[in-house]
Amino acid sequence: MAYTYDDTNIFARILRGEIPNKTVLETEHTLAFHDINPAAPVHVLVIPKGAYVSFDHFAGEASEAELVDFHRAAAKVCQQMGVSLDAGAGFRAIANAGAHGLQEVPHYHMHILGGRPMGVMVSKA
Ligand code: AMP
Repeated sequence: MAYTYDDTNIFARILRGEIPNKTVLETEHTLAFHDINPAAPVHVLVIPKGAYVSFDHFAGEASEAELVDFHRAAAKVCQQMGVSLDAGAGFRAIANAGAHGLQEVPHYHMHILGGRPMGVMVSKA
C-alpha cells in the first residue's frame, strides 16, 4: 500500500511559508520549530522538508542525504535546547503515527521534549 500525503496539512503550510513558526534551526532538508502548545519546558518539532507522512514513510523512503540531515539537525536541536546528554539531563523523542499513534498532523515530525522528567512512557490502558 502506498503512503498518501495530504499537502494541505499545517506543517506543509508552514514549509510553504503560509503560516508563521518559531524556528529553532533550519537546514537544507529539515526544519525545527517550537511546538505551539508545549507539553514540557522544551518542546520542539523536527520535520523533514520532504512530503513524508510518518516515521515509517520517512525512514523507508527518504534519501540518505535527507535521513542524515534530519538526524543531525535533531541532534543539534537537543544541543541548542540544552537537553543533550553531553551537556544536559536528557529528553524524550516521540514520533506518533496514524490512528493508533494519535498523530494529529500527517507530516512526519519528531517531538523533542525535555526540561523536566518526562514521566512514564505510555499508559497500559
Ligand atoms: P502529533 O499529535 O504527534 O501529530 O503532534 C502534533 C503537534 O503539532 C502538537 O503537539 C501540536 O501542538 C503541534 N502543532 C499544531 N499546529 C502547530 C503550529 N502551527 N505550530 C507549531 N506546532 C503546532
